[in-house]
Amino acid sequence: MSKKERNKMYYLKNRDKLIQKTKEWKELNPERKKINARNYYYRHYEKIKVKRIRDRLKKNLYMKRYLEKNRARINKYKALYYNKKHFGLLKYEILDKNNWTCKICNMTNRKHLIRFDKNITIHHIDGNGRYSENPNNSPDNLEVLCLSCHAKEDWKRIKMHKTSQALG
Ligand SMILES: [Zn+2]
Repeated sequence: MSKKERNKMYYLKNRDKLIQKTKEWKELNPERKKINARNYYYRHYEKIKVKRIRDRLKKNLYMKRYLEKNRARINKYKALYYNKKHFGLLKYEILDKNNWTCKICNMTNRKHLIRFDKNITIHHIDGNGRYSENPNNSPDNLEVLCLSCHAKEDWKRIKMHKTSQALG
């Protein structure tokens, strides 16, 4: 029997006693306990690092699978969440009422999708949209605009705001 095997046999036979003894020693030598833990970390650094990376990859894979499996459900809730947050759940009502067409240049959603790779947008007329402290999502404050007209309108309002601030 090798030394290693003998040690293992001894450990297995006196396991509880040894664990108790180690516990007592650790309580009596808190400083040494810290140093030993640190030494263990440096000695097995590679092993610990590999385990950490493997755990993270496993978690990521699990998350990816979960997202793939539930994508439809998650997208539905996401759309609902943003509709509620940005437009007070009026998004599709406003779009249908205005026939999904820009109020200023009459661009249709089909053309918008081709040009901007994005659905046509909704504009907050008084400027109190998603970034405002008091968003105003009342139906008469919402209008359908294409991205280009939307940017122009926002820019006009910012310019006006700045001039009024400069004038006092
Ligand atoms: Zn437009």
